[in-house]
Amino acid sequence: MNTKTKRRKGKKLTDKEKWRIWRQRVFKRDRFTCQLCGQRGGYIEPHHIKRKFDYPKLRYNVHNGITLCGRCHKMVTGYEDEWVDVLNKIKKKKLTLKVWNTFWQNMSSALKTQVKKLKREKIYEHIKNRIAGWKQRQKKSRIQ
Ligand SMILES: [Zn+2]
Repeated sequence: MNTKTKRRKGKKLTDKEKWRIWRQRVFKRDRFTCQLCGQRGGYIEPHHIKRKFDYPKLRYNVHNGITLCGRCHKMVTGYEDEWVDVLNKIKKKKLTLKVWNTFWQNMSSALKTQVKKLKREKIYEHIKNRIAGWKQRQKKSRIQ
């Protein structure tokens, strides 16, 4: 660490420091796993669910962050608005298969093309399996 990045005593955190802390918290919560395709570790990035440009106050809010791998991030970038609802629900483990299928079928054709270029099948299946997993856990906790 050079003197430039070293934290100065008593001074407020710089934007860069705030961003680093935010990023680390998002990664930790998501266990360093891409929340769309399930890639664990490797190259991952934090994504702002609501665009930081439109919601500057949420820039360093952990609840507005989600971990994505480089490829999935590329897929979401430029289509942030379309993804907001689904990503928020994934983060809260509250996505249903119905909402997921509706989103998947009704995404704009531009986004469809974008998704196709990347790993369409993998993402669809991964989220489907996660939804099934959440359901099962909910069932179990209801029985107990
Ligand atoms: Zn991914």
